[in-house]
Amino acid sequence: METTKHAIGIVWFRQDLRLSDNPALTVACRECDQIIPLFIDDPRDQTLTQVGAASRVWLHHSLHALEQTLKGKGTDLFIAQGASLDVLQSLIAETGANKIFWNRCYDPVTIERDSQIKLALSALSPKTFNGLLVHEPWENLKGDGTPYKVFTAYWRRASAQIDEAPESIKPLPVPRAIPVIDKRLDKSSLRLSIKQLQLLPQRDWYKSMMASWKVGEKAAQAQLRKFLKAAVVDYTDARNLPAVEGTSALSPHLHFGEITPKQVLYRLLDGNPTTRLPVGELTFAKEIVWREFAHNLIYHFPKMIDKPLDTRFEKFQWADNTADHLRAWQRGQTGVPIVDAGMRQLYATGWMHNRVRMIVGSYLVKNLLIPWQEGEQWFRDTLVDADLASNAMGWQWVAGCGADAAPYFRVFNPVLQGEKFDKQGEYVCYWVPELEAVPRKYIHKPWELDAQSRAALDYPHPLVDLKVTRQRALDSFSAIKGTK
Ligand code: FAD
Repeated sequence: METTKHAIGIVWFRQDLRLSDNPALTVACRECDQIIPLFIDDPRDQTLTQVGAASRVWLHHSLHALEQTLKGKGTDLFIAQGASLDVLQSLIAETGANKIFWNRCYDPVTIERDSQIKLALSALSPKTFNGLLVHEPWENLKGDGTPYKVFTAYWRRASAQIDEAPESIKPLPVPRAIPVIDKRLDKSSLRLSIKQLQLLPQRDWYKSMMASWKVGEKAAQAQLRKFLKAAVVDYTDARNLPAVEGTSALSPHLHFGEITPKQVLYRLLDGNPTTRLPVGELTFAKEIVWREFAHNLIYHFPKMIDKPLDTRFEKFQWADNTADHLRAWQRGQTGVPIVDAGMRQLYATGWMHNRVRMIVGSYLVKNLLIPWQEGEQWFRDTLVDADLASNAMGWQWVAGCGADAAPYFRVFNPVLQGEKFDKQGEYVCYWVPELEAVPRKYIHKPWELDAQSRAALDYPHPLVDLKVTRQRALDSFSAIKGTK
């Protein structure tokens, strides 16, 4: 038994808003006889708190859920605001805490901050853990010690590792008991309520957004169970159909650490190796590993948050004077139905279907010739699953400048994409009801209606000609193709 007498441990919750499969919490419970569960709203944190409005709304609800679960265990969640190191030092001074535990994050800003904190608090020998990924970025390297840039190779290695050591994905249970801190903290100036963090916006637009979601660890587990019970079987095909609930909708839960990829894979595999998974389950496992791949990339190539991995793209000639086009894209008013449907789904629910993320991204970057960073920024502000790693990887993939990206010359045709993946136009009609009366033949290209029917529609004309702008994008790419 490692328990130290009078060991007071801080468990610093970050991207791990849960009690189960939480190594920092588990070890702290083993080693300490008093625990302070802490969350810090750090104005410099880019992972969790200083993100977009939609994510802050999710965070508010997720903290409530965590607080409730901790209450059920007889303890409080302590909440503070300020630079993390200052908060931690004050708390240590006030409580005499002599241990600290947290789960690691892998983005460059957090790594730098955490390294400074580790150094400043070295007297407490901070203990840090992997609570966010199946494999940490330094565990999955190529034979020559360099990081993978191609997903299929990364998957081969990651899945082989899981198959060789299946116990490595066995999630930790919720600690049986969380030792409570004594009453001294009740009057602490560091103790805020969740409400005092003002994570919710003044206007209550977020209420309709959150109507589509249940937040927190319990909800995440329920969502996983529901998905694995039915939809996963058809996932390989259904995940491409935006009108169908064919995907897991786990992304915000995974981002906030309400559930872990180990918990997802452990249930999915159910004791089988990845090689024995049926096709739907296998495709789903690969998507979970795409998330790992994104964290792997951001760790090894930290500049990719806002710089193209393919440096030729630094010289790319984007279009000028695009503010109006950008605004129309953000508001779902481009005149291209599937693009507008996606952008409106995003604004209304804080989430967008993956197939449509690719379509709206390609349209922004290739048809409107607007830098992918503008799209990344907008997604960061509006997605409830906004994630530095997955978002940057997704946008660089769309733009053709990332690791294992779509080749630049692959310009999605939004009309064909719509006709293939939203054949009956159900998705479009749901989010763009102005088009409901349009005959299905024209639902993805209302500009081809006869002039009279077109004029009767309360829907914008396309901002740009898809064919002309496709060619413009290809020409711009040709200009940088041979450069270094
Ligand atoms: P499912 O299809 O059920 O997949 C299960 C899980 O696997 C997801 O929850 C997610 O964690 C992971 N996953 C699936 N696809 C990907 C992928 N391509 N890259 C990384 N992880 C993946 N995902 C985010 O979590 N945050 C983002 O900020 C984000 N930005 C994106 C931006 C663009 C331009 C694109 C093209 C994709 C982006 N994605 C992002 C990836 C993907 O669109 C979402 O993870 C997915 O749509 C979430 O829905 P789901 O949970 O139902 O996914």
